[in-house]
Amino acid sequence: MINETYKAMLGGKSIIRELSEYATKRGEKIGYDNVFDYSLGNPSVPCAEDYTKAIIDMHETMNPMELHGYSPSTTIPSVRKAVAESLNRRFGMQYGMEHIFMTSGAAGALAHALRAVTKPGDTVLTFAPFFPEYTPYVEGTGAKLEVVPAHTKDFQINFEAFEEMLTGDVMAVLINTPNNPSGIVYSEETIEHLADLLRQKEKAFGHEIFLVSDEPYREIAFDGKSVPYPSRYYDNTLSCYSFSKSLSLPGERIGYVAVNPKSVDADLLVPIMAQISRGTGHNCPSSSVQLAVARVLDETSDLSVYETNMNLLYDTLVDLGFTVVRPGGTFYIFPKALEEDANVFCQKAKEYDLILVPSDNFGVPGYFRMAYCIDTEKVKRSIPVLRRFVEEQYPDR
Ligand code: PLP
Repeated sequence: MINETYKAMLGGKSIIRELSEYATKRGEKIGYDNVFDYSLGNPSVPCAEDYTKAIIDMHETMNPMELHGYSPSTTIPSVRKAVAESLNRRFGMQYGMEHIFMTSGAAGALAHALRAVTKPGDTVLTFAPFFPEYTPYVEGTGAKLEVVPAHTKDFQINFEAFEEMLTGDVMAVLINTPNNPSGIVYSEETIEHLADLLRQKEKAFGHEIFLVSDEPYREIAFDGKSVPYPSRYYDNTLSCYSFSKSLSLPGERIGYVAVNPKSVDADLLVPIMAQISRGTGHNCPSSSVQLAVARVLDETSDLSVYETNMNLLYDTLVDLGFTVVRPGGTFYIFPKALEEDANVFCQKAKEYDLILVPSDNFGVPGYFRMAYCIDTEKVKRSIPVLRRFVEEQYPDR
């Protein structure tokens, strides 16, 4: 008999995918240049040149048996060492290679981190607005995902609601900064407050509460600011990273988990994740891709287009009367819709070939997400269309 749980998931198609498929179809009809597709978070800049050079050089010069051989189950030691050293340099941490586990992107990192620190039936808390894939990521482990309501004023943490929901069943708290979909970066103050509260509750409940920190957008920060590194503030932290966005390598499926060396069972967590990898069939990302990213750890693609696009859209949205919090990073912006039902709002926008994602699946109704990882030229052409849409549909806003 087939698995009914997964069969039931077939009915729950992602609205983001649906909209993206619609945009592609519409593009075939009217020309993709005329569709302002803000649906999908797919990087729009090429990967860093040095990554391509590293791949070519490795294929030309390395022993093929080594390059294409099986990776050890805890992943490649030289790569883990290079990642640890890069993080230590950048964030003043004390990682050793024993704290790093290479994974298939952030999705793979989260799958391992969550399984390593929870068991079926435990509760994982996250904060709205959140990446909708957290539901299958968490539920796939057998744990339950509960969502703390948003603090819509600035999309930092709603501490009042969080404290109420932080009960003895909660074994892990899942954060995402910079955040998809809001674009918000958690301030140092927010992370300190979060860390204090977790330490306090660990004492009260007599068990650890792990912080699983999802950081695929760590490198996409605006206004010359850097993003506070949550693991510096809280010892029981597993940082989940991805090169999908920073190096524009989403298809290569490469990322890692970094276990804070001061965490409880810090030396056990990577070997445990290697066992999880055996059981799930993950069995390590490709050896050549692990080795290639290790050569470009301190580099990124040219990410400047995202800040340019954000400024263009933010200024336009404010000018048009939208309520919107200015993103500190990522390539998303999350304004309030101009009517209560964001689905209706986005449906109307579609008539103008503006593809916007309604917010219900992000855990906050009444908003919409724009993924502005598209050419700046197209963003510029979309602005008069956005203006016409708003002026025609919401003249009394
Ligand atoms: N977490 C967040 C917040 C994301 O936005 C994404 C992808 O868009 C992921 C995780 C998954 O990233 P990856 O492609 O590296 O698996």
